[in-house]
Amino acid sequence: MSKIFDSHCHPQFPQYDADREEMIKRNLEQGVFMIAVGANLETSKQAIELANKYDGPPSPDGFGRAGIWATVGLHPDDIKDDFKIEDYRSLSSGKKVVAIGEVGLDYYRTPEEEKRTRQKEIFSQFIDLALETDKPLVLHCRNEKNGKSAHEDAIKILSGKGYPSPSLQFPGVAHSFTGTPEEADSYLKLGFILAFNGIITFTEEYDELVKFLPMNKILIETDAPYLAPEPYRGQRNEPGHVIEVAKKIAQLKNMDYEMVAKETFGNTQKLFKIHLPPEYKL
Ligand SMILES: [Zn+2]
Repeated sequence: MSKIFDSHCHPQFPQYDADREEMIKRNLEQGVFMIAVGANLETSKQAIELANKYDGPPSPDGFGRAGIWATVGLHPDDIKDDFKIEDYRSLSSGKKVVAIGEVGLDYYRTPEEEKRTRQKEIFSQFIDLALETDKPLVLHCRNEKNGKSAHEDAIKILSGKGYPSPSLQFPGVAHSFTGTPEEADSYLKLGFILAFNGIITFTEEYDELVKFLPMNKILIETDAPYLAPEPYRGQRNEPGHVIEVAKKIAQLKNMDYEMVAKETFGNTQKLFKIHLPPEYKL
């Protein structure tokens, strides 16, 4: 099996408290690389701790491998009154911090207009942080069910901030993409790439979009511990299950699994500017 990159997971979350080391070691040994995504201040710090722990050249026991990188961000559903962008700014300079996110707008779980306004204000501050630190954005946006489009608003805000920017070759990713084909198109025009996870293994809704998207516009992810793909649906998810997402894309695009794993690995490295240590071999 070739190496594969889970571009969005949460190995620092409490669902792994009982077996985190074992789970990470097992996945790294299978050649599964991961981006540990922060979803609030605490889980951003924990993501950095994990990334720093799994760093350096490979060792025979599988530890000390540079297989985990971190992001710092605040999930729109996790916004609290004491939010301060400075807290995130100081974390963002960590050497294994590769992106700002997940950040964005979630209208699925937030019907209140004033909360949505707050989400937009905070999203805007995180975009400024991404521009200031020259890091890509990991977007979490979800539309209201049969209602208002969070993606449309996010796209408007990003355009207002100057995206697509000529200086940003890879400005970010729309994680767990569940928007419309028109919204997908708008993200591509802003220079963003789209990430798919287990959802595409249990609904046909995104089949056409995946078939149509060029390979260099696709990332794969798990969003573990959530959204386990078929045939693990309903169980705790883990980074290695990203293999099932790659298999589904291979099937939809009539490609070899190995090619999907390889190309999405390269896309993830490009987006997050990840350079593996020269002594690193699989
Ligand atoms: Zn997530």
